[in-house]
Amino acid sequence: MILIVGMPGAGKSEQSVLIQERLGLHWLSTGNLFRETDDPEINEIMESGALVEDKHVFKLVEHKLRNVGYDETFLLDGFPRTVDQAHWLLDHADDINKHIRFILFLGVDDEVAMERLGGRGRDDDTAEALEIRKQEARKIEPTIEFLKGQGIEIVNIDANDTIEGVFTQIKDAITARVEPGGDED
Ligand code: AMP
Repeated sequence: MILIVGMPGAGKSEQSVLIQERLGLHWLSTGNLFRETDDPEINEIMESGALVEDKHVFKLVEHKLRNVGYDETFLLDGFPRTVDQAHWLLDHADDINKHIRFILFLGVDDEVAMERLGGRGRDDDTAEALEIRKQEARKIEPTIEFLKGQGIEIVNIDANDTIEGVFTQIKDAITARVEPGGDED
């Protein structure tokens, strides 16, 4: 499994779509999963920009990951976001058969991110929610440090580049590390 991480506005979802379409990886976004739920409590938390509580996250993620038959060609977007979630993932890796091969870290400058977010118009993109989302998103830094300390490779991608430029960097990173047809099914 490959993780894709980055601050809001780094272009994670956009790049994930391209990775899925052009490289054939199987993409799962926890943000999209939560957007699909009709639980009013979860919807309210999401719209505020805060992170959903771990008890909900673990339940949903465990169910989804367990039922996905891929490991090598699986792209996980949006999880883990905190050190606790990273611990959970490492502890459950064998059980759910999802092992982190490497992490694509999309680094973006603040000005570029703000400009991109301005044009998006999602329900959870109000100025207030965005500020909270940015604060919550900073938890990714200690999370990455923790995973790095566990010996997991972090691949830095310059996400200030154009969509195609970023995708080329990602494609090179993935093809250098993942065998085509790496999963049997
Ligand atoms: P995203 O599309 O990845 O920015 O996620 C949108 C929203 O879904 C976040 O602002 C959180 O409210 C929620 N969410 C997604 N993934 C997680 C996670 N791993 N832990 C907690 N909340 C999450």
